[in-house]
Amino acid sequence: MNIELVTIGTELLLGLTVDTNSAEIARHLAARGVRVTRRTSVADRGEEIRAAVKEALGRTGAVLTTGGLGPTRDDITKKVVADLFDAPLEFDAGVWDSLLERFARLERKPAESNRSQAEVPRGATVLPNRWGTAPGLWLTGQPGLVIMLPGVPLEMRRLLEHEVLPRLAPPENRSVIRSLLVRTSGVPESSLAEQIGDIESEIEPITLAYLPGLEGVDLRLSAWELAPEEADRRLGSAARLLRERAGNHVYGQGESDLAELVLDGARARGLRLGVAESCTGGLLGARLTEVPGSSDIFMGGVIAYHNAIKMELLGVPEATLAEHGAVSEPVARAMAEGAVKRLGVSAALSVTGVAGPGGGTPEKPVGTVWVGCALGGVVETRRSRFAGTRHEVRARAAQAALLLLYRKLSAGPVS
Ligand code: ATP
Ligand code: MG
Repeated sequence: MNIELVTIGTELLLGLTVDTNSAEIARHLAARGVRVTRRTSVADRGEEIRAAVKEALGRTGAVLTTGGLGPTRDDITKKVVADLFDAPLEFDAGVWDSLLERFARLERKPAESNRSQAEVPRGATVLPNRWGTAPGLWLTGQPGLVIMLPGVPLEMRRLLEHEVLPRLAPPENRSVIRSLLVRTSGVPESSLAEQIGDIESEIEPITLAYLPGLEGVDLRLSAWELAPEEADRRLGSAARLLRERAGNHVYGQGESDLAELVLDGARARGLRLGVAESCTGGLLGARLTEVPGSSDIFMGGVIAYHNAIKMELLGVPEATLAEHGAVSEPVARAMAEGAVKRLGVSAALSVTGVAGPGGGTPEKPVGTVWVGCALGGVVETRRSRFAGTRHEVRARAAQAALLLLYRKLSAGPVS
């Protein structure tokens, strides 16, 4: 089944309220095998709501709306949809009684405007709202199906769960839309795509999407409208094939976090970790300490932003800094070595780079980052050139440092 979502509220178009309703509804519908084919947001204006609902019905014959059901807005959505269906609004005594009961429970008196909330388009099914005043409505007719839910996220959520999902996707039709992420890092999207090749035809009906982000490129595999076991089986084999093709660019699957994997790998080898950070200013330490339980092996770090701190706390030689500059291979190396010594750890990561937006030179443009990894008496370093804003360069630098250690830990035993 296909459906479109129309979220109603001027605040959504002003950007004052983020349209969390449609994301939430889309997730729930996908889990039940209902495909959302389009999402539209419109202002609280009759003619715009009417046009959006009508066009959506023309495409899919099924629409779910949120918002515009409250008494203050003169029930715009309900009126417009009733009009589209040629269904006159009729006073519903049952709805009115439950409204009165709700008001009595809250020791409040209904306002005159609340009466309009008890009006229901002829032929509509009332979806009782025990969490607010505006009930949801389910209306089918010649134009198709329109489901109207309140805009208040809490009420929308409850009505969706208790009233809409059981009707729209009863448990016996057990199809799902399910996704699985294969996570890669340290490789640009285009090179990755080249390496993976035309895998799409081999994994059909599973589809593949490339999702580049600050931690790398995630590969999203999706199963569309399959039985849950079938979806999982096909996603599993598609993921295996994808991992074969993408090789060691892949670091994890699903919710995997690289910092957590690094900690797991280090823990398994009995290592203690430390960091020496310049341009990331603590981001690397933050990534590691974000993981619960990291305190058993993560000892801490030095934020050596100024060269004086690189020398004093990490023992980076003044001559090395003078000769090569702070953003250089020898400094990244010396920082990692210094961290091992000064922090008394068995593995250390270092980062030094030009985060920007200023400070770039022709030799070391903005986005130039050196990361270092000291492990088992050996220091390995890596240069990267990252694109993006200061925030993006810093986030990518922290990920690159984690990746360096992750690769070393995955490569084999460390003496
Ligand atoms: P109701 O039908 O329950 O009266 P409404 O749209 O008439 O809903 P509003 O007062 O406009 O009621 O909205 C209620 C609250 O819900 C507001 O805080 C609004 O920002 C929020 N809201 C409305 N639509 C959405 C949405 N699509 N996503 C997230 N929040 C929303
Ligand atoms: Mg509204």
